[in-house]
Amino acid sequence: MLQDNFGRRFRYLRLSITDVCNFTCNYCLPDGYQCDTPRDFLRVDEIKRLVTTFAALGTTKIRLTGGEPSLRKELPEIIKLCKQTPGIESVAITTNGYKLTTQIQSWVDAGLDAMNVSIDSLDPRMFHSITGHDKFDEVMTGIDMALALGMKTVKVNAVLMRQFNEPEFQGYLDWVKDKPITLRFIELMKTGDNVRFFEDNHISGESLKEKIIDQGWQRVIREKDAGPAQEFTHPDHIGKIGLIMPYSKDFCSSCNRLRVSALGKLHLCLFSEYGLDLRDHLQEDDPEALANQIRYLLGDKEATHYLHEGLTGGTKHLAMLGG
Ligand code: SAM
Ligand code: SF4
Repeated sequence: MLQDNFGRRFRYLRLSITDVCNFTCNYCLPDGYQCDTPRDFLRVDEIKRLVTTFAALGTTKIRLTGGEPSLRKELPEIIKLCKQTPGIESVAITTNGYKLTTQIQSWVDAGLDAMNVSIDSLDPRMFHSITGHDKFDEVMTGIDMALALGMKTVKVNAVLMRQFNEPEFQGYLDWVKDKPITLRFIELMKTGDNVRFFEDNHISGESLKEKIIDQGWQRVIREKDAGPAQEFTHPDHIGKIGLIMPYSKDFCSSCNRLRVSALGKLHLCLFSEYGLDLRDHLQEDDPEALANQIRYLLGDKEATHYLHEGLTGGTKHLAMLGG
């Protein structure tokens, strides 16, 4: 089991499989994907070595992310290899939903267990203005297809922003009244590229928490290793609400995840200064050496990020690492 110097245990790996994204979300890639790093993303055989070694070190859950992971044509193959790796119990994806209607069947067939879809507005015009794409109806159809295919865990991620979708807060709560979906409000995070945007648009997660508690939502007690999200249920709602509040006091103490970038760098924190290269080890067939390297590097994981001090580390935008 991977454990750091602060006693935090890591069974959860977020693996980015591409930096590329086709959306231009205003808080993430407002100018679109810039091809300023080599597009030499981890090959399928390297991903297999990585996942096998993490599983041997106690990882039970993999989330595939990006950029936009559905832009990788080998995605079903990657889902399948993760799912077939001994020790991996759950394979999840975070997607903008662009390819859901055409691909969800192949992801489910490959063994996908859970899916987070980013939907930053329930109004098609606002969705278009935030993401740059007129795809709201199609993404919603894709979610219905996933539920119809029997996918048990479907979550929707939404970033509320003062100048854009803040007025939709109540509409989102009402939306999960009769939908078996967990809606997760992710507090807008400051990154290297969105400093001004952040100042204009940040809404504190704590203020959202107060509002939902006032409306009778109750906090769910989660398992110790469940991660930093807070979850809430309501007797009148089938769906749940999740809050991801990176600026809240104890956020980092419940950190349960490690991240590997599409270029094979281990990131000990979403906001670390740089990633630690695993690529040489991924190209050799020496799982023991790779495992030792991961254990060794984990010794450098710090207690917390420095977002409170306004420091964003080397993270220019979250498409670099997948959130
Ligand atoms: N492209 C996929 C998507 O959008 O779902 C996966 C990658 S995206 C970086 C993962 C998540 O990070 C999305 O839910 C997105 O809303 C969130 N995200 C991106 N930039 C963010 C920021 N600055 N603050 C908060 N959340 C952010
Ligand atoms: Fe792309 Fe996801 Fe970033 Fe939007 S949030 S630009 S979909 S990587």
